This record gives sequence, structure tokens and C-alpha cells, in this order.
Amino acid sequence: MPELVPVEIPPSTVMLKGLDWDSNIYLVRSGREALIVDTGTGKRVRDYIGLLAGEGYLDGLRKVVVFNTHEHFDHIGGNLAFKSLLEGLGIKVSFAAHRIVAEVIERGLSRIILDYAYGERFKPHEVHAKLEDGDELKVGKLRLKVVHTPGHTAGSTCLYLDGETKLMFTGDTVFNGTVGRTDLPTGSGEELRKSLERLAGFEVDFGLPGHGWVIKDWKGNLKRVMP
Ligand SMILES: [Zn+2]
Repeated sequence: MPELVPVEIPPSTVMLKGLDWDSNIYLVRSGREALIVDTGTGKRVRDYIGLLAGEGYLDGLRKVVVFNTHEHFDHIGGNLAFKSLLEGLGIKVSFAAHRIVAEVIERGLSRIILDYAYGERFKPHEVHAKLEDGDELKVGKLRLKVVHTPGHTAGSTCLYLDGETKLMFTGDTVFNGTVGRTDLPTGSGEELRKSLERLAGFEVDFGLPGHGWVIKDWKGNLKRVMP
């Protein structure tokens, strides 16, 4: 297991490769606000926050929005731990997700979250911003577009940042070299295929997946992995 090292994606994004069973975790900063995309299972949150704080990535931050790409425990399990540790540093934290994901988080639906598969129990909590396809998520001066991409789960959602560097946060919808599985509750191979076709229409410099490494050849990768 490699040590935790932040991978910078200029101008404003830092990737933390997930440790153990954790999803990758991303921090996107704009002024005194930041976005965190996914939070892992929650077991290593102290390591992530310690690293981000130690390297200065949290300096001057006032407000963080935590966005979850989908309903699975390895992406949402660290939500409350991130909130409490960040609030301990004086940073305000709120949660955002697609409406379908938000409902699962608020109701703590284990059948979909799969927390039991990790020997854990997910603690339900409020999601402040319930988003729909086409909505914009505001983080400082940045505007990220909400792209609902069902297939891996019904709520699976990508976030598109159309900036100086064009980024797509893909969750478990598409990875470098493969796609998300569709055999889990609320998954659908047919929906996934439609979502991937839609994603191929975006101009993307770096695809930032929920597991594995950065996708550099966006359209080529999609063509290769299309089921
Ligand atoms: Zn997943």
C-alpha cells in the first residue's frame, strides 16, 4: 500500500487516493470555500485531514460542501467524520448530493448503501442541497454542473467543472480502464450504457474517478470500456 500523497491537478484540485477500501477523495478550492467529493468509509479520515491540513490545503478555509457521487458506503461513510474534524478547525460544513442519493443518506437505507459489507453501520444525516440533473453547485467562484448518470446505482452523479482545466468527477460510473458494476441494488446495465454515451459528449481534460487513477484520454477511454 503506497503512502498517502496528495496529487495536484492545477489550478484548484487535489486528489487523495483512497486508502484500504476507501474511495478516492477530492478537494477543490476557490478562495475561502472548497468542495470535497466523496469521503471514503470513514476509517482513515484523520489521515486525510491531517495530510490536507499539514500541507496547507485547508489554510484560510471558511466553508466546505461535501458532495457524494453515489449511495455506496465506501463513498459516504466518512461524511460525518469529515464534518466533525473540519468543524473542529472552524470550517462550516454542509452536504450536497443528487436527490436520489440524498434520500438514501437521510433514510440510511442499508440495502443500497451496503454498509454491512464493510462490517459497519451508516449513520443517517441531513443532506442540505438536493440536486437535480443540470443544476449548478457553487463553490466560491466555481460553478460545477450536476450530470445525473444512473447505472452503477440509481443516484450516481458526475460533476463537471468547465474551467481552465476541464474536469469530470465520475464516482463509480467510469474508471481508467473499466466501468462501474451494475449488479448491485438499483444498478442497471442499460442505464449505465446511456450514461456513458452521454458522458462521451463532454470535453474533459481529466476524468477523476472514485477509484484508481486519473483518466487522461477521456473519449478514448470511454470507447474502450463501453459495454
Ligand atoms: Zn459504488
